[in-house]
Amino acid sequence: MKPLTEQEIRTAFVNCTKGESKRLSVPRDLAERPWDELDFLGWRDPQAPDRAYLATELDGRPVALALRGAGAASWQTRRSMCSICLTTHTGGVSLLVAAKAGKAGQQGNSVGAYMCSDLACPLYVRGRKDAGVGARLPESLTLEEKIERTVANLGAFIAKVTA
Ligand SMILES: [Zn+2]
Repeated sequence: MKPLTEQEIRTAFVNCTKGESKRLSVPRDLAERPWDELDFLGWRDPQAPDRAYLATELDGRPVALALRGAGAASWQTRRSMCSICLTTHTGGVSLLVAAKAGKAGQQGNSVGAYMCSDLACPLYVRGRKDAGVGARLPESLTLEEKIERTVANLGAFIAKVTA
């Protein structure tokens, strides 16, 4: 994806208030991120590890989501699969919950997805990060097709948040 600036990311949040999007933690090393190999940038707040964020581009426009970890649970020790990139980790998948955009979110509605806890899906798909033995099922898909699927899964999740 095209590199995003801090300002672009902050204004791209669809499911938190303007005040929150100004204050939330955005990585300082944006210039060094491997944007060519990212379908989205995901990160955690180092001060508040239950908070996670992701920024991507949909139809040429930046879109960012604020997410919350659903707390410590059995996923920490169990093998589970990321619903975005379909990588299986032992203890490396979290249920992340996004408040819905707009009124629905203010009324407390949210949607959740099991995702790689470090939000590094694009790097797992490309084999740049290793999640261990058996993490990726043998598949006949090309890398291109796996990337397309990851992008489609993320797009479907964002569509649920903004619906
Ligand atoms: Zn993943």
